[in-house]
Amino acid sequence: MAVYTLPELPYDYSALAPVISPEIIELHHDKHHAAYVKGANDTLEQLEEAREKEVWGSINGLEKNLAFHLSGHILHSIYWQNMTGDGGGEPLAADGVGDLADAIAESFGSFAGFKAQLTKAAATTQGSGWGVLAYEPVSGRLIVEQIYDHQGNVGQGSTPVLVFDAWEHAFYLQYKNQKVDFIDAMWAVVNWQDVAKRYAAAKERSYNLLLAP
Ligand code: MN
Repeated sequence: MAVYTLPELPYDYSALAPVISPEIIELHHDKHHAAYVKGANDTLEQLEEAREKEVWGSINGLEKNLAFHLSGHILHSIYWQNMTGDGGGEPLAADGVGDLADAIAESFGSFAGFKAQLTKAAATTQGSGWGVLAYEPVSGRLIVEQIYDHQGNVGQGSTPVLVFDAWEHAFYLQYKNQKVDFIDAMWAVVNWQDVAKRYAAAKERSYNLLLAP
């Protein structure tokens, strides 16, 4: 019985064109994301087998695979929801996302400063990675993370609320080697309503860390 399942896309393959082509969305969701779901489920099975047989020779690799595939599944699940064909611009109080707009201004000084930092973080990933806006519960602030693969360079306990996939599979068929053009274009499909919902939910459950009694 599979623990993780591939979520349906919240729109059809062409919904984000011309920013992201239907061909990329189809491959990215149906093949790449699906592979992370399978990888996470397979790794859980292999860990179960290791426990049953008490054979631990592969434990390091299995734990690394679990982090890689599970994080891939989680980030892609957020990624699809973070985008809409009706998106773009910036979060505004008039659109009901004033709390997010205020948090961005408090954490980064301005929306322009935040946008520049996340753009740079995503566009300068070395190899495969992500640019991520995350809620950091110890400070109660938002931070930008530059993630390696799906799981590296993350502040423990932070919750991703806006994710930019900077792996080549996310853009190469359309943007070729121009990763910076892809990241610049991504801002036109950001679903600020979804980001604001994630920010509110992350703030709500920030007590989970309980660093002090
Ligand atoms: Mn991807």
